[in-house]
Order: sequence, then structure tokens, then C-alpha cells
Amino acid sequence: MRIIFIGPPGAGKGTQATKIVERYQIPHISTGDMFRAAVTAGTPLGRKADEFMKAGKLVPDEVTIGLVRERIAQDDASKGFLLDGFPRTVPQAEALGGALDEDGLRLDAVLLLEVPDELIVQRITGRRSDPETGAIYHIEFNPPPAEVADRVTQRKDDTEVAVISRLDAYHAQTAPLVPFYDARSVLVRVNGVGAPAEIAERITAKLG
Ligand code: AMP
Repeated sequence: MRIIFIGPPGAGKGTQATKIVERYQIPHISTGDMFRAAVTAGTPLGRKADEFMKAGKLVPDEVTIGLVRERIAQDDASKGFLLDGFPRTVPQAEALGGALDEDGLRLDAVLLLEVPDELIVQRITGRRSDPETGAIYHIEFNPPPAEVADRVTQRKDDTEVAVISRLDAYHAQTAPLVPFYDARSVLVRVNGVGAPAEIAERITAKLG
């Protein structure tokens, strides 16, 4: 199963991706997670990505495409993968399409998780994650359990200022992927408003 997950920041892609990869036993490839790991490790890639991420801007295509091409060529991705946060631009989608074509592979589904902008800022500014397990919480909608509450952290780019710029980047650079994949008959639209369990059921129903 080769799945792409697209949707605005804070749509719940990370939360839902965890459930999907468990079900299909495929690796969860999140470019955001890969960049954050590189920033934490202080690698040259991390130093390059950090300035874009802090500003809520996209990391340049040539950097991101190379990273993903290397990752999907690894053994664990040979039977499939879920790409979370990639592609985010039409050139990225074209590069991915080219890489898959070269190997005679195709995408099974491009899931579009739809959430209106009004909900995004509230979801993102309240988002916290557990650095030990990677679990994602929301201070109001899905508070962390007491034993975890003291150690949860907030992403550097989950501030109100960065969210506005991330949403702008989504509309300007990523939204064109919707007609791009619709024209290729792989787009699956899922309503991303509601409780995580409810949304997971919608996704399962659509993926079959
Ligand atoms: P995410 O965790 O998916 O919200 O990504 C966090 C940040 O990482 C984004 O705001 C971008 O700065 C960067 N990033 C992640 N994926 C991509 C991508 N496919 N293209 C460019 N930048 C990306």
C-alpha cells in the first residue's frame, strides 16, 4: 500500500497516520519528523532546514526531494509506505511520480484530510507531544494523562505567527496538489473535523 497524506498543518495527519501504518504494516515517513530529527542532531541538513521551519516556510524542494528519494529506496519501504507531509508542492509530486514510474510502482491513494482554517490555529497552538513516545495531545481536546503532562513539549513552529505563515504556504504551494491528484483519479477526500476515532473510521471506510 502506497499512501500519501495531505492536508493543512494541524489537520490530524500525524495522529491518523499512526493508526494507518499499524493497520497496513508500512513505514510512516514524515518529512517534518525527519527534519526535526536532523535539527535536534545538529546535522548540516538540520541547520539548513531549521531557518525555514522556524519561519513556517517550506524547506526548498531540492533538499526535500533528495531526502525522500533516499528514504523510500530503503528496504522497509519496498512493500509500501505512508508519506506524511510530502509532497507539499507540485514539483515534489512530479519528482515522486517520476521516482515511482522508474520502478514501475504506483500510488494507491492520496488522502486529503479536510479541516477549515478557523479550526487550525486553535488545534495547533494547543498541540503538545510526548518526546518519549511521540504521542500527540491537545491541551483542551485531548489532554495528556497526569504521568505524561510534565514532560510534553510544544513544537517550535506551533506558535500563532508561524501557523499563519504555514497556512499561507499550504494554500499557495500545497493546495494545487488537490487538482493534480484528482486528475490522476487517486484523490480520496476525508472530513477531518471530529474526534480522532471518528475520523479514523472515515478513513478506514474509504481505504477499504
Ligand atoms: P510538518 O511536521 O509536516 O508540519 O512539517 C514541519 C515543517 O517542516 C514545515 O513547516 C516545513 O518547514 C518543513 N517540511 C516538512 N515537510 C516538507 C516538505 N515536503 N517540503 C518542504 N518543507 C517541508
